[in-house]
Amino acid sequence: MSLSSNQDWLARSQAAVWHPCTQMQHHAQTASAAHLPLVPIARGSGAWLYDFDGKRYLDGISSWWTNLFGHANPRINAALKDQLENLEHVMLAGFTHQPVVELSERLSALTGGSLGHAFYASDGASATEIALKMSFHYWRNTGRPEKAEFLCLAGSYHGETVGALAVTDVAIFKDAYAPLVRAATVIPSPDSRLAEAGESPADVARRAAAALEAHLEKHGENIAALIVEPLVQGAAGMVMYDPEYLRLARQLCDRYEVHLICDEIAVGCGRTGTFFAHEQAANDGNPIRPDLMCLSKGISGGYLPLSIVLCSDTIYEAFLDDSVARAFLHSHSYTGNPLACRAALATLNIFESDDILAANRLKSAKISTALAPLADHPQVRHLRQRGMITAFDVETDDPYFSRRFYRAALGREALIRPIGNTVYLMPPYIISDDEIAHLGQSIAGSLQEALAK
Ligand SMILES: *Cc1c(COP(=O)(O)O)cnc(C)c1O
Repeated sequence: MSLSSNQDWLARSQAAVWHPCTQMQHHAQTASAAHLPLVPIARGSGAWLYDFDGKRYLDGISSWWTNLFGHANPRINAALKDQLENLEHVMLAGFTHQPVVELSERLSALTGGSLGHAFYASDGASATEIALKMSFHYWRNTGRPEKAEFLCLAGSYHGETVGALAVTDVAIFKDAYAPLVRAATVIPSPDSRLAEAGESPADVARRAAAALEAHLEKHGENIAALIVEPLVQGAAGMVMYDPEYLRLARQLCDRYEVHLICDEIAVGCGRTGTFFAHEQAANDGNPIRPDLMCLSKGISGGYLPLSIVLCSDTIYEAFLDDSVARAFLHSHSYTGNPLACRAALATLNIFESDDILAANRLKSAKISTALAPLADHPQVRHLRQRGMITAFDVETDDPYFSRRFYRAALGREALIRPIGNTVYLMPPYIISDDEIAHLGQSIAGSLQEALAK
């Protein structure tokens, strides 16, 4: 049987594949406002995805925030082919290899040497769990087992496994499993949209930091770590906040002996304008540094599942002992996979050789210009941007707004998938001026179509 059309593949996919983050029935209900189209993709090239019927879609959200340098990138492909001929995988317990060593060294250097060791896993949620376990175990190893609680921000998202849900504050992901979860304490978000009359984003940050301080003053003795998504809370709907919050959070964490975990899974790798988002918070010109940092998504260029937890030497050294029980006994089968590490090295090479951070500053300004007219739309609120993330909220009571917009965008050759009523762009960094214009037009047209209901 030869199958070659969209129709064939989507029927087979619906019959055999359980798709993530999806009410599967919505795929089948083609006549309903809740319908979620299933798009079979045959190939990708640059910023474009192509289906089996010859239609194309500009990947405006980097395939769930993972892709940095386009689909089928020639340089990453070449590195992977070379790696494939040499070593596809070896266990990382008791063995090591060139890509994992080089990647660990280069990531540590990118933190100014402040985070000296890298621990590996395959997905973001596992990186979150590793960071939480490391923090907890650090305090246990240093004789302070009472420091066993975690803090997270309102609206935080750090993954959906049972452990990661403890620090995730997105009701749709968490509520059904609440009885399984040992929930962390949720503290106020420094969300800039919460500014009251006369308040700047930095004022909102200071207000949220004051709430953090009040909590630490009472409960700091029992708290192991505060985990944050630096500058942009992605899954909450591209909630943006002022770097002042991170600067103050770093000070407070130092004062109350609490680890600061920066989850850079979505915002790392240049997304917000600096290689790591936390670098935009500085004390006396020096970037603040977390005690633990999680990376995933873009680090492999969007090619292969890879996540990394970087930690300070202080944390690493607290695990060194004759006793095995004081070691960090955590592992995944594909920990440190050579192909994934090689994709990450090829990704870092592109950052260096093409001065991506500088190039992105220009692209970000062009995206801002392309979307600027939307600010005048009567239902658009809080048009905002941080580096290569641009977002706005749409004022509407329509519970199907995001579906309508998504379908309308696909009809305009664009993959743009709103989170609730928040429309955002988070494109691959190779996006051209023409492609930025295409996304701008797709958004304007899709907004009109979605709101016409
Ligand atoms: C996506 C994401 C995660 C989870 O990563 P997965 O690979 O999907 O498990 C964790 N934290 C943040 C900030 C994310 O955006």
